[in-house]
Amino acid sequence: MQFDSEYDGIILGSGHNGLVLQAYLCRAGLKVLCLERNDTAGGGLRTEQLPGGSGFHHNTHSFYHRALTRMPWYRQLELEQHGARYIEPELNVCLLPAKGAPLEWWTDFDRTVESFARFSRRDAEALKRWREEFVPIVENILLPEAQSEPQPPEERAAALQRSPEGRRLLEVSQLSPREFAAREFEHPVVQAGLLFFNGLREVDLRASGFGHHIPALLASPGKAQMCVGGSAQLARALVSVIEKAGGEVRTGVTPERMVVEADGSSGPGRVTGVQTTAGESIRARQFVASSLNPQQTFLELLEEEVLPPTWRRRARDFRYNLLAPLFGLYLNLDEPPRYGGADPGSAHLDEAFMVIMGLDDAGQFDDMVSAHDRGELPPTVMWGSSPTVFDPTQAPAGKHTAFMWVKVPYRLRGDPSNWDGASEEVGRRMLDLWCRHAPNVGTARGESFVRPPSQTPLLLPNMREADLLVGSLANGQVGFSRPFPGAGTYRGYLSGLYLCGSSSHPSGNITGLPGRNCARVILADAGIDAPPLGS
Ligand SMILES: Cc1cc2nc3c(=O)[nH]c(=O)nc-3n(C[C@H](O)[C@H](O)[C@H](O)COP(=O)(O)OP(=O)(O)OC[C@H]3O[C@@H](n4cnc5c(N)ncnc54)[C@H](O)[C@@H]3O)c2cc1C
Repeated sequence: MQFDSEYDGIILGSGHNGLVLQAYLCRAGLKVLCLERNDTAGGGLRTEQLPGGSGFHHNTHSFYHRALTRMPWYRQLELEQHGARYIEPELNVCLLPAKGAPLEWWTDFDRTVESFARFSRRDAEALKRWREEFVPIVENILLPEAQSEPQPPEERAAALQRSPEGRRLLEVSQLSPREFAAREFEHPVVQAGLLFFNGLREVDLRASGFGHHIPALLASPGKAQMCVGGSAQLARALVSVIEKAGGEVRTGVTPERMVVEADGSSGPGRVTGVQTTAGESIRARQFVASSLNPQQTFLELLEEEVLPPTWRRRARDFRYNLLAPLFGLYLNLDEPPRYGGADPGSAHLDEAFMVIMGLDDAGQFDDMVSAHDRGELPPTVMWGSSPTVFDPTQAPAGKHTAFMWVKVPYRLRGDPSNWDGASEEVGRRMLDLWCRHAPNVGTARGESFVRPPSQTPLLLPNMREADLLVGSLANGQVGFSRPFPGAGTYRGYLSGLYLCGSSSHPSGNITGLPGRNCARVILADAGIDAPPLGS
């Protein structure tokens, strides 16, 4: 086979996972090319001006980067030297119920306890107890697990059984988040707030096996953060690391198929390159790593005969989250939303980072799930920020941006195209609720923009069904079985083929961990000892 150019490796898709992988490999001395179908690199690290050229920057695909500066790759890749900077606002999350005091999560844990105590002394004590118990579980088990290749389930269970912390984790995880919240906390607003955080992570709140997620979040040292200059600035910093290390990110290039050649063994063959839709053939001497979803990787980009039927069936059956799709409302404002009103005791609410509205009790989750099941609009439970309160660079001088997201079904009334006629109505409902809590949003408003979930996979086709985690965590699609049994070690059946996107462990959101874990596997397979991954 004749190739037009040649690299050590090719990465498909320039989301942050692909870029983190590429940055590590380039720094380890490999010559690596990343191919991206869109005109800009970064995938979900997207910041766009709405309207174009206006100076109002909106983060339309990810904004809250949880604990990002604590991720090992953020430090190891020295991203601050390449232009990344993060802010972690103190009033990190604030739930505004329809009536009564807000529920507040502060970076200062004692202030969070005080806020919980205003709802229920018992809940404040439960918060302290669970956090204390789970800090070592998070530090010694859950974080190391997320940052390494997953173990086979039997090995993992046996390892956990050997320590009291591991046994406790297994015990708590038997519950569903819903059962955990109902059993351990009593106030409806507190229960709803705790569940909401889990819902944000797209965990099925009714599914057993995820009960530990709530105490793990309570014990997590890292809070929600935002990137100065917008989420795309993190992508620019990653590209800068890559280019400095000799790597190349090519945008506007769509791979058509992966090239598979016999490798001289009796095995299934080796992935040796990529052909693009423009007819270019690029050789990959050592590997191709896909950050795309399993259907794209195994069904669209490989010929049928190179994979066994079971592998193709598992890729075809990979499932997406019902509750993940988001609808976004983005506003350009003359002043930021004022949640505190005229009450000086509430002035701090104007500095709240993530503001949640429309959520009053845990029962609303059942209504949400049932509406999603039916493809109908759920109750308006929304969350968002005014980024310019913390980073004025995201709007023209003296002006502001603000956004809200709400969970909605991708297939509205059975068909995503129904969003064409429904977006305005959903935007209006969101604005009504917003104005109830921050009346000035109605008067200080300039232009507004809506983004229904039907647009998500058009821009990022790996987010099938608008699933921002790129694959459900239910149906056993976790850990060693993510994306499916046999593919849980970042290797993709054919030699030379690797998986590095959110469909792999530990899944989606801006964590960079699938990319980093995959880097470790590729370097180990290539026999390269790379210091940057060592600690
Ligand atoms: C509305 C919305 C809000 C979100 N908010 C948050 C948030 O606040 N916090 C958070 O942590 N996460 C958030 N997310 C989720 C987050 O964006 C994703 O989980 C994350 O981007 C996944 O990273 P990735 O690198 O695996 O894939 P992606 O970021 O999706 O990148 C994949 C890349 O592959 C490219 N690609 C796809 N198909 C092809 C192809 N055939 N050929 C070549 N390239 C291809 C895409 O264009 C894209 O650039 C949000 C997502 C959405 C949609």
